[in-house]
Amino acid sequence: VLNAVQDFDFFYFVQQWPGSYCDTKQSCCYPTTGKPATDFGIHGLWPNNNDGTYPSNCDPNNPYDQSQISDLISRMQQNWPTLACPSGTGSTFWSHEWEKHGTCAESVFTNQHAYFKMALDLKNQIDLLSILQGAEIHPDGGSYSLDDIKNAVKSTIGHTPGIQCNVDESGNSQLYQVYICVNGSGSDLIECPVYPRGECGNSIEFPTF
Ligand code: 5GP
Ligand code: 5GP
Ligand code: 5GP
Repeated sequence: VLNAVQDFDFFYFVQQWPGSYCDTKQSCCYPTTGKPATDFGIHGLWPNNNDGTYPSNCDPNNPYDQSQISDLISRMQQNWPTLACPSGTGSTFWSHEWEKHGTCAESVFTNQHAYFKMALDLKNQIDLLSILQGAEIHPDGGSYSLDDIKNAVKSTIGHTPGIQCNVDESGNSQLYQVYICVNGSGSDLIECPVYPRGECGNSIEFPTF
């Protein structure tokens, strides 16, 4: 079977701020392994097309198999914690991400281990919290300008991130997810061909966690 043609254009590498997931009306549940670190967590690594569309759930014959990533589990717990309720170990979240997104990049990842390792290595390479703190943008409940946040990332990684906001219980717009784009072979960070809908105001809160 010919498998050389990539049926997507690039990846979004998406990180979430746990404070912004947890302080919403919907709240959150810490994983069974305990409160995550005060750090961005991985949400996913998502194949995407230049026109903004994306493939999903591409291969029902390749279900999540945690035995293939047993050597990565402690890094996963540390860097890819689940915050959804009810509390879980993370495997439900990781399984969802592999099956919905990872299976659509089988031309790049010959196996699940390669998918999860690439996401973990990107997280390691792009220390978002340090990048922001280096620009005096701290998770202190204060408000920061959207442009300052984007510029802090751009001046460090060379590319403008996509920023997504959500709202806290009082309705304040806050920093929720950061999208960084990676080329289709997974070798380089790139400028995003298309940005996600952000729904941020100009002044956005960076809540504590
Ligand atoms: P939401 O509607 O909460 O923004 O997104 C729900 C889910 O849809 C995400 O967790 C993700 O799986 C998928 N999704 C949303 N936007 C995008 C996108 O722009 N690209 C890709 N590849 N997936 C997306
Ligand atoms: P998406 O489909 O948007 O890639 O992933 C979102 C799905 O993963 C939702 O079904 C959500 O309930 C589940 N999920 C589990 N843990 C988390 C988490 O910590 N953050 C987010 N955004 N979704 C999570
Ligand atoms: P997924 O259910 O598809 O389970 O979640 C849909 C959307 O609801 C996701 O984009 C995620 O951000 C949000 N979500 C799901 N579960 C939770 C939760 O326990 N707490 C919060 N704050 N958001 C959630």
